[in-house]
Amino acid sequence: MRISEIVKNLKPSATIAAAAKAKELKATGVTVYEFTLGEPDFNTPDHICAAAKEAMDAGHTHYTPATGIPELKKAVAAAYKRDYNLDYEPAQVVISNGAKHSIHNVLTTLCQPGDEVIIPTPYWVSYSALVELCGAKPVLVPTTQESGFCLSPEQFANAITDNTRLMMLNNPCNPTGAAYPVETLEGLAKVAVEKQVPVLSDEIYEKLVYPGSEFRSFASFGQDVKDLTIIVSGVSKAYAMTGWRIGWTLAPADVTKGMSNLQSQQTSNPCSISQYAAVEALNGPQDCIPEMLAKFTERREYVLKRLRAIEGLSFADPGGAFYAFFDVSSYFGKPLQGGRTVDNSLDFCSALLEEAHVALVAGDDFGAPGYVRLSFATSMDIIEAGLDRLEAFLKP
Ligand SMILES: *Cc1c(COP(=O)(O)O)cnc(C)c1O
Repeated sequence: MRISEIVKNLKPSATIAAAAKAKELKATGVTVYEFTLGEPDFNTPDHICAAAKEAMDAGHTHYTPATGIPELKKAVAAAYKRDYNLDYEPAQVVISNGAKHSIHNVLTTLCQPGDEVIIPTPYWVSYSALVELCGAKPVLVPTTQESGFCLSPEQFANAITDNTRLMMLNNPCNPTGAAYPVETLEGLAKVAVEKQVPVLSDEIYEKLVYPGSEFRSFASFGQDVKDLTIIVSGVSKAYAMTGWRIGWTLAPADVTKGMSNLQSQQTSNPCSISQYAAVEALNGPQDCIPEMLAKFTERREYVLKRLRAIEGLSFADPGGAFYAFFDVSSYFGKPLQGGRTVDNSLDFCSALLEEAHVALVAGDDFGAPGYVRLSFATSMDIIEAGLDRLEAFLKP
């Protein structure tokens, strides 16, 4: 059959492809040290699972309103008041099938062919693909390691044209771990207001911020900024609920209305049972967050210490999320384990997987050739053994 041009040009998600390659090797009986995963390795806390079981028993197994149950919208609005002192009406909330779906809703609602969307790079693999799906044009603006991979207000201002429809900010960032300093966010917010450019602020890693960094929601810099901000977040990362597929947007009323019509035609409601679980995640005890964060903090410190000790690797310390993103280009053209030589990150990752059975994701698809991403959302045992093997691979 003829496949549409727009879908023909879609690439499969690079992180999912890298994980598939590691799985293939694992299936042959090899122990693989897996660092490709973009999800917490913890199970969903028990009290949240219990709420899902209760929802099933209570018969909450039917369609819900397309944009979510009122209890969950209320819980989302209350959580932003509690955690960030932000005032949102439940009517400004759309519950979707994960934050990725929320991003697609925002882009479809705001963008049309000819529009430009500013994306700082390195960026999450799906951003540019989803922009292209709407027929709009991703405008990639490279950030540097020296800046901690943060877009500067000047860079933002310079990228704006008459066709700019949106800027996509990811704070803290996947893949770089960049946690934007408050002054930089303030500067970006000022540009957004001056030029009246809406900002999609993907804040899915809001709860995973390490000592020395601070999280501030983009909507918290004044009413004029909030009026231009669409917050995207969800329960996947903060509550280890990736499989439940619950994300949301907090947006001005007109955008919310558009997304709500879109979602009602496209998918109807997100899973009813997952919505009840998400209510418990937001309203129930919050100690699971610091507990998981403590584990991530310990792993992060260990990973950074090990990476610093390896000559020729360079990186900016991640202030949030659970990734180390480092430059391996000084090893290109040099002999590695097994007599291998490589000249790009994709080949680097293939050789590392084949020789040392360590799986990382190449930076190329994040818009950062020369870099690789290591997810430390895995056990300390695997991290220790995997880093030993990475070290041996680099110093044969
Ligand atoms: C994981 C992730 C998401 C999406 O999460 P969902 O599981 O779809 O809620 C969105 N943005 C970034 C940057 C992510 O890493």
